[in-house]
Amino acid sequence: MPNSKMIALGEHRSVIRDLFEYGMERKKIVGEDNVFDFSIGNPSIPAPEAVGKELVRLIEETPPTALHGYSSAAGDPAVRRAVADYIRKTFGVNETPDDIYMTCGAAASLTISLHALLNEGDEVIVFAPFFPEYRVFIEKAGGVVKVVPAQGEDFAPDLDAFARTLSEKTRAVIVNSPNNPSGAVLSEETLNAIAGMMKKQSRLSGAPVWLIADEPYRELVYDGVTVPYPMRCYADTLVCYSFSKSLSLPGERIGYIALCHEAEDRDRVFAAICGAGRALGFVCAPVLFQKMIPALLGQTADVSAYRKNRDLLYSSLVSYGYTCVRPRGAFYLFLKAPDGDDAAFGETCRKRDLLIVPAAGFGMPGWLRVSYCVSEKTIRGALPVFEKIAKEYGLK
Ligand code: PLP
Repeated sequence: MPNSKMIALGEHRSVIRDLFEYGMERKKIVGEDNVFDFSIGNPSIPAPEAVGKELVRLIEETPPTALHGYSSAAGDPAVRRAVADYIRKTFGVNETPDDIYMTCGAAASLTISLHALLNEGDEVIVFAPFFPEYRVFIEKAGGVVKVVPAQGEDFAPDLDAFARTLSEKTRAVIVNSPNNPSGAVLSEETLNAIAGMMKKQSRLSGAPVWLIADEPYRELVYDGVTVPYPMRCYADTLVCYSFSKSLSLPGERIGYIALCHEAEDRDRVFAAICGAGRALGFVCAPVLFQKMIPALLGQTADVSAYRKNRDLLYSSLVSYGYTCVRPRGAFYLFLKAPDGDDAAFGETCRKRDLLIVPAAGFGMPGWLRVSYCVSEKTIRGALPVFEKIAKEYGLK
């Protein structure tokens, strides 16, 4: 008999994936243009031109054995050096190549980090709303999920609830800013407040409470918003980065873990990261795309199309009477179910071929996520449907 927990995970796909697969089938029946699919976070903006150029250059100039062979388990030394240099210069911290572990994207960065840090029964605090896969990753690593609610119009974490949730059992706290699914960005003040409470708890516990910063959306911000670099606020930090969204390369599976150079017990924690990567079979991230990274650090796909989408979608939905969180980053808009029932509202929308994701699985029942990394045409086609449903719900 195969592992029953894994069967359950395989049989019950994520709500997001279910809706996405449904949309693909539905498009075959009613036509591409008649399904408004806002289900998944697949970047709609092409990768920057530099990506294609560097790919061609590498293929033309690198001997195939070097291009397609294994790298060191933690990554190609030149790539780790380039990433460390970039982080040091950009964020003013002391990263060295020995603090960098190349991974297959943020999902791998997170699972490796959690396996490296957790012992059975350790608690991991996440702030609602949160990426649903956190629950899968934390529980697989033996941890227990503790959810802290959001508050206010900007969906900032409820810091009183956070203080009450921290305990001797807390081993890690995950922050995700800009946030999937709300588009909220943590301010430096809030991050410092979180860090202050974690330092206090670490002292009480006699062992660090680790900050895991999940950062695939760091560069996708609007209106001049800046995203504070977590290592500057808190030393016991692992940044789980990915190039999936910033460079529109989600299928290439490339990212890294950056362990803060000043972290307590740095050498042993890095050894645990290497050990977790080994145990999970996540060694030697895709080498061709590792080698692309030095030429691409600091580049970002053109986010102006996402900003345009956000403006159009947000202003239209608000004008129809919906309650939404104004996204400040990432490419998701969080919308309140008019009657508080996210599943029922999602179903009403699905029946009109408007695919948006109920957010109970994100720890926020009563809300839905709209991924606006789509074409403007899809948004314009969907707006009359949103408006009609708003009228049916008596919103205006
Ligand atoms: N973390 C968050 C918050 C995400 O939204 C995603 C993907 O959508 C991931 C992690 C996983 O990203 P990757 O494709 O780099 O594994």
